[in-house]
Amino acid sequence: MKITPLTANTFASDGGAMFGLVPKGIWQRLCTPDDKNLIPQRCNAWLIETDDGKKGLIETGCGDPQWFSEREREIHQLEETWLLPQSLKALGLRFEDIDFILLSHAHWDHAGGLMDPEGNPVFPNAEIFLRENEVLCALGRDPLLYKSYPEKIYETFQRLSDRVFPVPDDDPEVLPGIYMLPAAGHSEGQACIYFTEAELAGNEGKTISALFTGDNLPGKHHLRMVFQTAYDTYPLKTRAWKQQWLPRCAQDDVMLMFTHDPDVFGAWIDADEKHEYVVRDVYTGEA
Ligand SMILES: [Zn+2]
Repeated sequence: MKITPLTANTFASDGGAMFGLVPKGIWQRLCTPDDKNLIPQRCNAWLIETDDGKKGLIETGCGDPQWFSEREREIHQLEETWLLPQSLKALGLRFEDIDFILLSHAHWDHAGGLMDPEGNPVFPNAEIFLRENEVLCALGRDPLLYKSYPEKIYETFQRLSDRVFPVPDDDPEVLPGIYMLPAAGHSEGQACIYFTEAELAGNEGKTISALFTGDNLPGKHHLRMVFQTAYDTYPLKTRAWKQQWLPRCAQDDVMLMFTHDPDVFGAWIDADEKHEYVVRDVYTGEA
């Protein structure tokens, strides 16, 4: 199995919201905000090519920027022309070639690419996998969570219901060697996606294990326990998830795969007495 990173969208978020409790004096040393306090972000997706020739994606990003109003595009600083089709084309692929999609969760900036602005499925042949709880969140229309799961997400999951496969927690191996594991925190049904063995694009011939961390750990500056987004539904669960996984990733040399880092797609980490965890090496996607 081979994994290849690609960019689905570029956008920007409020730096304070991305770092939650962390004072600006600290996070702005890591990410320089613009005059609106926004920091650059990417929606990173990953192409998965299985040994039996299937092709899948992790995440779809925000989707076609035309989905959004002019005001929303401006607020989020979304790119003019949707990057995902271009990124796929660069790998010789079209939407039709995608057989499956794994979603860490159903927030608009992860599942927004499933439907086009006319309400048609973008990936006509893809089966869609996400954790059982997250399907309920996407369809729940919870008024407390409408910003994260707006109406268009509800409509998407309604429309695609025959192609959505909820992953039960007692049987999380969605494909041989790929596990969608419980990672409640950022959202209730958040999944982290664990690869026992994969070849990394640009490093063929060598296998690694890797963990897609979803929004529990959106980028390289979110390794520390309280460096978490203000968008987390269950902040303490995010911390507990980090406590569970980061020691293992450091010890077993598991590459973290980031969903929003604007600079790198992945990183290997070390435990550190002063800073809890530090990046040892990064993966930028270039050979
Ligand atoms: Zn996100």
